[in-house]
Amino acid sequence: GATLYVVATPIGNVGDISLRALNVLTISDAVACEDTRNTSQLLARYGLSKPLLAAHEHNEREAAEKLITRLQQGERIALVSDAGTPAVSDPGARIVDAVRAAGLRVVPLPGASAALAALSACGLVNDRFHFIGFLPTKSKQREAMLESLRHETSTLVFYEAPHRIVETVAALAAIFEPTRQIVLARELTKLFEEIHRCPLAEAPAWLQADPHRQKGEFVLVVEGAPSAADDASAEAERVLKILLAECP
Ligand code: SAM
Repeated sequence: GATLYVVATPIGNVGDISLRALNVLTISDAVACEDTRNTSQLLARYGLSKPLLAAHEHNEREAAEKLITRLQQGERIALVSDAGTPAVSDPGARIVDAVRAAGLRVVPLPGASAALAALSACGLVNDRFHFIGFLPTKSKQREAMLESLRHETSTLVFYEAPHRIVETVAALAAIFEPTRQIVLARELTKLFEEIHRCPLAEAPAWLQADPHRQKGEFVLVVEGAPSAADDASAEAERVLKILLAECP
């Protein structure tokens, strides 16, 4: 009965839908989506056609009320965004909040997430990550935010659109230590997927070297700040070297 299913959809490769997601989409009475055209095309690829309800950034509150009414009548509704996991740098959180507040059941169907795909293939060894998503578009606010993250030791994860990638990577290289590693993951799961890792200092030149490298959607993964423990052991090593040099 009455359930809101929060369904992850592919971030490029249509094969990245789960069997469970297909089952839930099949049994749902309606699909609430960010963009009805986009979602009807996606459903058609799986041979599905469902009543679609628009639930985007600008109507989330009203959409939530309508969804709640339908759920209270016992419907099963799937909530999707254009790509990846709803409510993560995407609309959906307000709807989930309202549906939960109304005492109705919310069930997540995990699947593609650009952030986790990039993290899983970046090779930066750290058990902790800090998900930032999109940085502010105004340069002053963007710099202030990056400044506030300078001492964060967790791996940092950003989302970026192609028209701002050059600017954002320049800002990262200007604010964080140039020796930190960055992983630029573009077009994940798509034909021109590319995952490039280099020191931050080299990233702006790498992007400039080929205009293709600036195309598509990006996840940027940046190594965290050296931890205080690392600093302490680096200092111990420095002192030890001096002492050893003095030893007969
Ligand atoms: N909810 C989505 C998720 O869970 O991944 C994210 C949606 S957000 C509006 C779109 C951003 O996600 C893009 O600008 C890009 O930073 C990232 N993204 C989405 N698909 C991607 C892909 N195939 N490769 C790299 N980044 C991607």
